[in-house]
Amino acid sequence: MLTGKTALIVGGDARYIELMKQLLLYDASVYAIGFDDAEDELTGVISITEQQVDHTTIDFVVLPISGVDEEGFVDTHFRRPSIQLSDEWFTSFSDDCTVFTGIMTPYLNQLSESSIAITALMNRDDLAIYNSIPTAEGAIMLGIQHTDVTLHDANVVVLGYGRVGKTIAKSFQGLGSRVSVYARSDADLARIYETHATPITYDQLLNAASTAHLMINTIPKLVVTPEVIQKLPTSCFILDLASKPGGVDFRFAKKRGIETMLAPSLPGLVAPKTAGKMLAHVIQMIIQDHE
Ligand code: NAP
Repeated sequence: MLTGKTALIVGGDARYIELMKQLLLYDASVYAIGFDDAEDELTGVISITEQQVDHTTIDFVVLPISGVDEEGFVDTHFRRPSIQLSDEWFTSFSDDCTVFTGIMTPYLNQLSESSIAITALMNRDDLAIYNSIPTAEGAIMLGIQHTDVTLHDANVVVLGYGRVGKTIAKSFQGLGSRVSVYARSDADLARIYETHATPITYDQLLNAASTAHLMINTIPKLVVTPEVIQKLPTSCFILDLASKPGGVDFRFAKKRGIETMLAPSLPGLVAPKTAGKMLAHVIQMIIQDHE
C-alpha cells in the first residue's frame, strides 16, 4: 500500500490514467499535471499546473515513459501545449523524493549527474518484459494493417533480440510467420536457432532483406541502413519500434518508396489499461522496497 504517500504525475499517455487509478487504489494521494482533457476519467486525482506544485509534499514524481527531451519538454497526450520543466523545478523537490521516468534521456542523465536520483522504469527487466507483450500485440496490429499478405507464411525480419525482440519473434512465429532474427552475439544467435527461428548475422541480413514482407527493428541504433534498404522489395513495410530517433534511415526508405513507421509507445495505444496496471504495480513495489 502507499498510504500517506503523495504522487505527482507529469504528462504521459492513456496508460497513465490507469496508473493514477491504481495509485489511488494503493491509497496514495495523486496530483496530476497535463491531464486537462481527461479530468472526467480521473475522479479523486487533483489536477494542477506545474507552477502550483508544493514541492515539499511530493514523495514521488512519475514522468512519461519517453522521459524529458533536451529542452525540458515532456509528452502530454491530454493537454496542449505540452509541459516544459526547468532544472530549478526538478531540484526543488526534497532529497527523499523519487523521480520515475520510463527511459533516461540526455536531459535526465545530466540532471541525475548533477543533483537528483532518477529511476528509469524500463531499465528493469521485469517491467520491460511485461511491456514487451502489448508492444508485440501492437506490432502484429500494424503488421496486419500495413502489409497486403497474411502474417501466416510471411517473411518477417526482426532486428535485435533483447526484451522486445524476443517477444516479437515468438509472437510472429506463433502466427505462422517465417521469422529471421538479426543479433550480434553468438549466444543470441544460438538461442534464436533453438527457438526454430532463423538466426542471421549482419551479412546475412542483406540476403534476408531481399525477400522480406515485414521488417521490425528494435535496435536503438542506425541498423536499417541504405545498404539494407537497397535490398528490400518496395512492398516491404518497415516498422521501427526503437526509441526516438529509431534505427531506420527513413530518408532513404522514402526515396525508394518503401513504407516506414516509427511507432513509439505501442502499449499506451493498444493496451493502456494493462500497461498502466503494470506500471503502478512496479512503482509501488519500488517505493515499498525503499522504506
Ligand atoms: P534491450 O533489451 O536493451 O534490447 C536491445 C537490443 O538491441 C539487444 O538485442 C542489443 O544487442 C541490440 N543492440 C543494441 N545496439 C546494437 C547495435 N549497435 N548493433 C546491433 N544490435 C544492437 O531493449 P528492449 O527492451 O528490447 O527495447 C528495444 C527498443 O524498443 C528500445 O529503444 C525501447 O525504448 C523500445 N521500446 C519501444 C516500444 C514501443 O512501443 N515502440 C516498447 C518497448 C520498448 P546486445 O544484447 O548484443 O547489446
